[in-house]
Amino acid sequence: MGLFGRRKTVFVDADILVIGGGMAGCGATYESRYWGRDLKIVCVEKANIERSGAVAQGLYAINCYMGMQWGENQPEDHVRYARNDLMGLVREDLGYDIARHVDSTVHKLEEWGLPIMRDPKTGRYQREGKWQIMIHGESYKPIVAEAARKAATEVYNRIMVTHLLMDAKQANRVAGAVGFNVRTGDFHVFRAKAVIVCAGGASHIFKPRSVGEGMGRTWYAPWSSASAYALPIQVGAKMTQMENRIVLTRFKDGYGPVGAYFLHLKTYTENGYGEEYEKRWYEDTKALVGDYIDRHPVPTCLRNHAILREVAAGRGPIRMVTKEAFQDPHKETVGWENFLGMTIGQAVVWASQNIDPKHINPELTTSEPYVMGSHATCSGAWASGPEDYAPAEYQWGYNRMMTVDGLFGAGDTIGGTAHKFSSGSFTEGRIAGKAAVKYVKDMKNGQPQVSEQEYRDLEKLIYQPLENYRIGRNEIVAGTVSPSYLLPIHGLQRLEKIMDEYVGGISTNYMTNGVLLERGLELLAMLKEDMSHMGAEDLHSLQRTWELDHRLLASESVTHHTLFREETRWPGYYYRGDHMKLDDENWHCFTLSRYDRNTGKWEMEKAPVYHIID
Ligand SMILES: Cc1cc2nc3c(=O)[nH]c(=O)nc-3n(C[C@H](O)[C@H](O)[C@H](O)COP(=O)(O)OP(=O)(O)OC[C@H]3O[C@@H](n4cnc5c(N)ncnc54)[C@H](O)[C@@H]3O)c2cc1C
Repeated sequence: MGLFGRRKTVFVDADILVIGGGMAGCGATYESRYWGRDLKIVCVEKANIERSGAVAQGLYAINCYMGMQWGENQPEDHVRYARNDLMGLVREDLGYDIARHVDSTVHKLEEWGLPIMRDPKTGRYQREGKWQIMIHGESYKPIVAEAARKAATEVYNRIMVTHLLMDAKQANRVAGAVGFNVRTGDFHVFRAKAVIVCAGGASHIFKPRSVGEGMGRTWYAPWSSASAYALPIQVGAKMTQMENRIVLTRFKDGYGPVGAYFLHLKTYTENGYGEEYEKRWYEDTKALVGDYIDRHPVPTCLRNHAILREVAAGRGPIRMVTKEAFQDPHKETVGWENFLGMTIGQAVVWASQNIDPKHINPELTTSEPYVMGSHATCSGAWASGPEDYAPAEYQWGYNRMMTVDGLFGAGDTIGGTAHKFSSGSFTEGRIAGKAAVKYVKDMKNGQPQVSEQEYRDLEKLIYQPLENYRIGRNEIVAGTVSPSYLLPIHGLQRLEKIMDEYVGGISTNYMTNGVLLERGLELLAMLKEDMSHMGAEDLHSLQRTWELDHRLLASESVTHHTLFREETRWPGYYYRGDHMKLDDENWHCFTLSRYDRNTGKWEMEKAPVYHIID
């Protein structure tokens, strides 16, 4: 009784439940209302949708815009680009589906008040690169959130969703979700006919470069805690390409973005001795990946590879040559504004380290790996494709529905579709929202049933860490080390260390092999056992505990996938030392996994890659 005495249980019934109100979640909420005028559409978010998700701080560019109105690019071009960057492996049906709709999303964003820069000569949107357009985007997220707020029947902020609920009568059908209010502690039971998971990607899975006083600073948002993966994995949804973690080349210590520098300011890189180094590694890279090194643009992972090889050869650090570009006052302004609208921390780091890019070429470094589905990487859930475009094998019902009935996803959640970024994630949310409305309408009266036993069991499990702490705390008089519980920060650091040392993080120079991965899985299993001894001193720690739980399950998935794919497909993201070459004969395929929560076992399989576009 002590556990639940002061806590309320709040029941919410919805037709469509959107989990996570970031870019994809706001898109899903907005579009669900458009097609489902009479439906109850609920969005639940662990922060506040006004400033939540990876776009919280704002952006300086929209990275996915075709420009079809001016004949700049066609959707097919974007599929070719993403396929090339991902070394041949993307779901072309899903990518095409986003690309053909993304321009309409961007036009809406402008209509809603997002300032998009224009080229004064042509009147078109100002291009940063072939796919990117420049924005004054500090308020990008509040603008998008307003559209979602107006569309939703209700937005529940500050609720961390921990588990999905399944239909009591029909196996493999979703029925809702549970979570807790991170401010009041109230338990929330959401009963829904369809659920759209839009809960973002995953940082803090691998040990970050930023430690000590810099701890918490990562490139991807520190609050991206892998819920997008853990929630579907828990209920047996198939995942794809979870091995395809991403490593970013960024400005050192602040993780400041480099896109505007390369594309708009036309800056370039050099080694510590002021030399060009990429050409030096051409033959070396060709020996690993063959003709992929000759593609244009050079795939992101291979550019990382050249940096890693050059630094390992003792000729670091790699620097961005800014001194020339910054002599132009316009470029200097753009260079600084780029950070102020998106990554203020980098400007602060430079100020604190006496780096004025007009006089000093700043250092670059490669980040720790992240798991996500919307950037130059495509980890996530295996989803059904669009009816008019997907090959039969990629279709089992509704667009963006996972292999669990009624469970949809978008943005970082959905795998196989790289390079969607903010606009593509919002667009994919819209696609999923439309399909979910159709699913609900087709269901008529056959709605799912939630079992009281299931959510009461989950309630006990969710709050147990508070009880562990309350009792265990009596055994120690000072400090944080207890014989009977583990704090979430300890668990997180253990997870990061395991992933870093065994699964290809920074301390092994992104190198792993079968032996290391097998040992990594054993250590992850031990951490999993210890999760029942987590102690949470307050609601904040309780949230950290469940975020760790989600990160751990996603990490297990990453490790199984990395073990399964016996090749090095993306040198520069990670290396399998025991299979150092790309192997198109055996591995030009997707990897799929399915987790069985009753047995704790993972099943792995291959799925074909269909090249629909020439
Ligand atoms: C540093 C950085 C720079 C970027 N630069 C660009 C750029 O220049 N241009 C561009 O177009 N894109 C850029 N992106 C990419 C873009 O931000 C992402 O592609 C996009 O935000 C992904 O959308 P999403 O909805 O999947 O995830 P998010 O937008 O991150 O939304 C996920 C939401 O889910 C919520 N959530 C998570 N877990 C739970 C839970 N358990 N319960 C409830 N809610 C939960 C989160 O709080 C969040 O609101 C950048 C991203 C980063 C991090």
